[in-house]
Amino acid sequence: MKLRTSSVHTGVYKDKTFNSVTTPIYPTSTFYFDAPGKNKGYDYTRSGNPTRTALEENIAALEGGAGCSVTCTGMAAITALLFLLKPGDHVVTGDDIYGGTYRVFAYVFSNIGIKFSFINMRDLKAVEKAIRPGTKMVWIETPSNPLLNIVDMDGVIKIAKKKDILTVVDNTFLSPYFQKPFEFGADIVVHSTTKYINGHSDVVGGAIIYSDKKIEERMRYLINALGVSESPFDCWLVLRGLKTLAQRMEAHQANALAIAKFLEGHKHVKKVYYPGLKSHPQQDLIKKQMKGFGGMMAFELDTKKVPLDQFFPKLKYFCLAESLGGVESLIEHPWSMSHASMGEAAIKASGMTKETIRVSVGIEDSEDLIADLVNALKG
Ligand SMILES: *Cc1c(COP(=O)(O)O)cnc(C)c1O
Repeated sequence: MKLRTSSVHTGVYKDKTFNSVTTPIYPTSTFYFDAPGKNKGYDYTRSGNPTRTALEENIAALEGGAGCSVTCTGMAAITALLFLLKPGDHVVTGDDIYGGTYRVFAYVFSNIGIKFSFINMRDLKAVEKAIRPGTKMVWIETPSNPLLNIVDMDGVIKIAKKKDILTVVDNTFLSPYFQKPFEFGADIVVHSTTKYINGHSDVVGGAIIYSDKKIEERMRYLINALGVSESPFDCWLVLRGLKTLAQRMEAHQANALAIAKFLEGHKHVKKVYYPGLKSHPQQDLIKKQMKGFGGMMAFELDTKKVPLDQFFPKLKYFCLAESLGGVESLIEHPWSMSHASMGEAAIKASGMTKETIRVSVGIEDSEDLIADLVNALKG
């Protein structure tokens, strides 16, 4: 089954009671037994729920994984994955990963003895050098947030595989529509479903997709033990959002490309970061591992010409907000907003400046979006 068909159909037709075409929501904490030891596969919603199963089957199929677990937030998924490790274990990851991931690694899991190297993962030699005997996990995020740097999945995963190190790819930015980490040998794919997977900015959630049943079994145990599974209502919303994933991603990308080209030609914009532009320095890698460029971009605003406090208030359609991947366009200032929790030194090291602006391009009409930017960039 192809992705567009799968996103509409997989996991969905489960209701035999009234033949509902869409998946019913089962808002129950517990399920009755027909007799001790005899139930219909569910006993307690923290451990399992039919609406959640529908979503998990759907997402597993989209990524091409052996199974999936969905969690109450993306950070819950990431947190649960880190419990595969124990004190003393070492993780290699990028120095420009999502701010919340950086925070839980550097300031929460570091405190219980897990060690992290935050490096430039575009440099395969640096990856090789960072790996040491205690390295148990390599954590890849590509494209990176907010500067859209591309990590060579094939290259990094090969290095990790040689040493039997578990590889995780955060695929939030492109979604399985534009990128399939399992094709490059990843062991685990993780998502903040809050973003493109749900796509409507009305729910928070996460997903962990497994390449094999053994990892799935261990993770399902952890997710149930930690209590981070997703509520049936939220699962239903994500399942509803997913059905238009392909159509939304195409629309996000078409608008993003138009806006990136517009910004690149604007005299008050110093630089644009978008994988769909020829100016992106990693063309070969983009061709090799991405089926599209997505809807995220960043740019450097010439704040001497257009101060931030004049730019943002003029925008009508771009909402000043964190998060991304929804149908409405969002814009934000990573330095003081999404990435502030990293601390100034780490933000600087990742290449961001006080002039970096991140845009999550929505699916509105691109002419309206560009007119909005024209007005705000007048200075
Ligand atoms: C938002 C995000 C997360 C965290 O997900 P939440 O749903 O906000 O908890 C993790 N990784 C990336 C790349 C994200 O954009």
